[in-house]
Amino acid sequence: MAVSLEQLKYPFSVEARSTAQKLARDVGSLIKILNEPGNDDLIDEAEERVFSAISQEEIKLPEIDREEAVLVYQAARLLVEKVCLNLNSPGLRRIQAEAESKAVNRHLSSERDRVIRSLCKESLGWQIESTGTSVERSRLPLSLRSFEYRIRFEDFLEVAPSFRDARWKLINRHLDAGWVPVRKSELYRLMSGKFKNLIVQSEIRVPTLPMRLTEAVQRFESEMETRKKEWEPVEYTSDSVTAFPPCIAQLHEDSINQKNVSHFGRFAMAAFLLKVGMGKDEMMRIFRAAPDFVQSLASYQIDHIKGKEYEPPKCKTMQDRSLCPVYLRTTFDPLCMYVEHPVQFYKTRTWENSKGITDHSWYARKRRKRQSF
Ligand code: SF4
Repeated sequence: MAVSLEQLKYPFSVEARSTAQKLARDVGSLIKILNEPGNDDLIDEAEERVFSAISQEEIKLPEIDREEAVLVYQAARLLVEKVCLNLNSPGLRRIQAEAESKAVNRHLSSERDRVIRSLCKESLGWQIESTGTSVERSRLPLSLRSFEYRIRFEDFLEVAPSFRDARWKLINRHLDAGWVPVRKSELYRLMSGKFKNLIVQSEIRVPTLPMRLTEAVQRFESEMETRKKEWEPVEYTSDSVTAFPPCIAQLHEDSINQKNVSHFGRFAMAAFLLKVGMGKDEMMRIFRAAPDFVQSLASYQIDHIKGKEYEPPKCKTMQDRSLCPVYLRTTFDPLCMYVEHPVQFYKTRTWENSKGITDHSWYARKRRKRQSF
């Protein structure tokens, strides 16, 4: 019997969990099923799922046309938990949680209203209501018309505090008799955020695994070891400038040469420099060269960006703001095609510099292209 598409898209749903429970009532029975010779495809798919998470690629739905397909997610969780246990680190669990929640968010964005409501109510135990059709909403005050749903504030607070943006603070939301109006996209973010939290908070006691599963675990461990250097936070040193992506290098150079840098450009550079560990004094030295430099204002702005933990803008935003010289075709670096964020560029280039790697042909072998120029 084939499993429904919804069960594969939403592993946290009551239906998916009950099918999985029916097939494998506990970890021991799951391992037994996975170890059966005819079920190699479940392990292959689970392995692929975890590798997609590690390499930050899209998690695909299992292509298995029988009920056991629902166990692919369970198997992927099992393998990840074993890696966490062996390495005594929850790192891979967090990576998996992030990737799985992104996949759910993607599926939700093209989901039917009926399924959304059922997932919220039956699977997450949330109370949500529709705020009516667009015609009905047009009678509401202007500030409330774009909110398609409302959710109970206690359910909103289950997830929203884990998001950094100020719009997720209850104090910044409209609250009416305990209901918080939310846009569709916000509801999807809350739902996928809850799924992410569920994974992060869950720990599975994994016993010794049979050979076929142990081999998969070893492959993840070796992959994690290879990538560890890329993920580790990097220390800012005086050589770090050589690892700046072209966008930041340009802003840095313009600032030092007293050229005018836009307000957003300064924000992008400050958020980036803070992220990579530059100290405030050094940042002030860079900003001091600006023609309109005001010490107290620059100091306040740096403290504000740091205090609010603002993330540096992604490549897409830099391109939209005409701050990406590669996109503007005034310079080129092959690494830009394999990143979506200037900090990703910086981490990889710092690692390459530390190893003396100047041949960049490995990008094409090891990484998926993320941008074309
Ligand atoms: S592609 Fe990204 S990292 Fe590269 S220069 Fe443009 S914004 Fe910076």
